[in-house]
Amino acid sequence: MSDPGTLPLGLFGGTFDPPHIGHLRLAIEAREALGLAEVCLIPAGNPPLRDAPRAAAEHRLAMVERAIAGLAGFGVDPGEVAAAAQPSYTVATLERQRRLHSPARPLVLLLGADAFSRLEAWQRWRELFALAHIAVATRPGHDLAKLQDTPKVGATGTALAAEFRARQGSAADIAAAPAGRIVPFAITALEISATAIRERLARGACVRHLVPDAVLDYIDSHPIYRTPHGH
Ligand code: ATP
Repeated sequence: MSDPGTLPLGLFGGTFDPPHIGHLRLAIEAREALGLAEVCLIPAGNPPLRDAPRAAAEHRLAMVERAIAGLAGFGVDPGEVAAAAQPSYTVATLERQRRLHSPARPLVLLLGADAFSRLEAWQRWRELFALAHIAVATRPGHDLAKLQDTPKVGATGTALAAEFRARQGSAADIAAAPAGRIVPFAITALEISATAIRERLARGACVRHLVPDAVLDYIDSHPIYRTPHGH
């Protein structure tokens, strides 16, 4: 049997404000489709490119821990939450993860298509490809086709589109190298976002079955998202 320390490891960052079943299906289906030994969820401490999260980093970490409790093959990295005084840059998280694993171990950064399409705004984004593969999950309303098209004669396309065309691979390529490929993969389409869940909670609407029950219990027992009159 292979040493599990050499098998591909998935790294799934997010704000998780709160974690929902769209996140969990992405993680579960990535593990199956890409042959990952494990998927490690990494809640952002202080995400730099968006408004401050509604829930404090400690609450988001606690909710992610509850979301994956009892699911074999999933773990949580609290590193970004522990360093929440600084902005959470994925490139720094991948550098830290690289130091924890053998240089030959395939690391796979998991992203939804919306996050991938904004990659050029990320700190030192071109360095990500030397540290990990990037696997991009389909997400309703976010089309990857535009990035995949070959630009018309005379047009250059974006730098990200060029990287995509040069690096595009399939699940089979992941185990063959520690980093460097961009692998799109299809997941069950779920038009669920944390934004819509926060809005429902703010008006006192029900979110059961949009989030795992353990996350709902946590939300119900902490004053995180509901307005004082919500329930
Ligand atoms: P928000 O609405 O607060 O922006 P979100 O629901 O997009 O949150 P994030 O925590 O920002 O969730 O997302 C973490 C990662 O999960 C991102 O890469 C995002 O693309 C992906 N993701 C989130 N929800 C889905 C979904 N329903 N389908 C596919 N990917 C998703």
